[in-house]
Amino acid sequence: MLELKNYINGEWRTASNPDTNEVFNPANGELIARAPRATKEETEEAIQVAKQAFESGVWSDLSAQERAKFLFKIADKIEEMYDELVELEVRDNGKTKGEAGFDVADAATCFRYYAGLITTPDGETYHVPEPVQAMVVREPVGVAGLIVPWNFPLLMSVWKIAPALAAGNTIVFKPAEVTPCTAMKLFEILEEVGIPKGVANMVMGKGSIVGQTIAESKDVDVVSFTGSTEVGRCIMQAASGNLKKISLELGGKSPNIIFADADFETAVDYALFGIFFGAGQVCSAGSRILVEESVHDQFVERFIKRAKRIKVGPGLEEGSEMGAIVSEEQMESILKYIEIGKQEGATLALGGKRLTENGLDKGYFIEPTVFTNVTSNMRVVQEEIFGPVVVIQKFKDEAEAIQLANDSDFGLAGGVFSQDGAKALRVIKKVRSGITWINAYHPTYVEAPWGGYKQSGIGRSLGKYGLEDFQEIKQININLAVEPVGWFSN
Ligand code: NAD
Repeated sequence: MLELKNYINGEWRTASNPDTNEVFNPANGELIARAPRATKEETEEAIQVAKQAFESGVWSDLSAQERAKFLFKIADKIEEMYDELVELEVRDNGKTKGEAGFDVADAATCFRYYAGLITTPDGETYHVPEPVQAMVVREPVGVAGLIVPWNFPLLMSVWKIAPALAAGNTIVFKPAEVTPCTAMKLFEILEEVGIPKGVANMVMGKGSIVGQTIAESKDVDVVSFTGSTEVGRCIMQAASGNLKKISLELGGKSPNIIFADADFETAVDYALFGIFFGAGQVCSAGSRILVEESVHDQFVERFIKRAKRIKVGPGLEEGSEMGAIVSEEQMESILKYIEIGKQEGATLALGGKRLTENGLDKGYFIEPTVFTNVTSNMRVVQEEIFGPVVVIQKFKDEAEAIQLANDSDFGLAGGVFSQDGAKALRVIKKVRSGITWINAYHPTYVEAPWGGYKQSGIGRSLGKYGLEDFQEIKQININLAVEPVGWFSN
């Protein structure tokens, strides 16, 4: 069992709070770690440490090349520890080995990407009236508060830590309470490669204490949050005290539109991947499948036939294709939504139950679940379930597909399947979402911006946009003729 610790000012610390957090493997109930629940005072201390480290210039004054060297080393270490990190992520989160493998590989890629990006030109100059030369430089914001969810514990941490450090900020990072294990390994790596003391700090604990303190603090200059829309709203309010910069990556209920002229097997295959990858605990999941009337029944039949064959089981077991739900609380929430769907009159076409056979009763597993005959006003169509539950809706034509797709408070992701390229592009351009695919679903690239429209968030992670979240922009005007302005006569 792991004894997790906070990392403040380059020291590993057990929390002063005797109330610790027990971390379980959701596939079998095994106790895998004990983590601190830091107090408000400890969180405030970490913020002060980060503030002093920022002001000292120990990190922000390094050249981009020097900072990049650290980030490249972190990427190398992540790859060296690939097997250990994959296994720990599976035991902590419940996902499959294949899924965790992608996360760990992407984490290394993300550090390398930002190491490279930070050394590319990023300034601008302007031809303003003589004798002034105007230019723009980018600077770190200061102390970055980073708060992440449990569904991609390592990867979501890296999506924030890599650009924040690349840009020269110091950080106070908080992992999710249910999945803090790989974060500890990541901070061990940061220590090993020699990130200076006080630059990177980690505080584990409750959202309502550690997270809230970070979001409220007047000494935190930017807060970057990934999690639910509900908590995103709290972050926005808390951040208003000192008007800190915010970046919010929130929930979704994303449409996946299948036209009759799509390549049928490709559409079915990606639709399955879109919702059942990560057992549906993916913000961008294609949880609303919209199918053109003429192929609807055929699609549903084939989709269900294939969904039935998905092998649900512990992530470390050979052959498991869909892993566990992260916690009992999350499982209960998903099962409650399935009941709501039934009560609302949707047709439960597949699944709907907890799986308990063949030893699965020790963990939290839910069958791939499909609702058909749904209407847009149902809660199962509008609300994020965050589990292996999909709703399939029919549409008549292009206009109705777009109208149904956009009938949501969310706007995170969306897909279109059609072999008519012009139609696919026409439709995806009308879908009010930040991350979209044509004839695919889910692939994500570190180079491309990630984030949502509407209540799915503010700002973008990844790519150059992800770096901008952690940068201030300064104009510098240089007088090239050093003489008095002469505005006043005396
Ligand atoms: P959550 O909002 O419950 O928690 C996220 C983090 O916020 C956790 O670390 C939690 O401890 C902390 N927190 C909770 N209350 C807080 C408060 N009052 N102040 C500050 N911090 C607080 O989310 P979750 O259940 O861990 O994750 C699932 C959610 O995350 C889903 O809604 C999903 O869509 C979303 N998500 C979005 C993206 C994206 O890129 N848009 C990616 C992954 C997950």
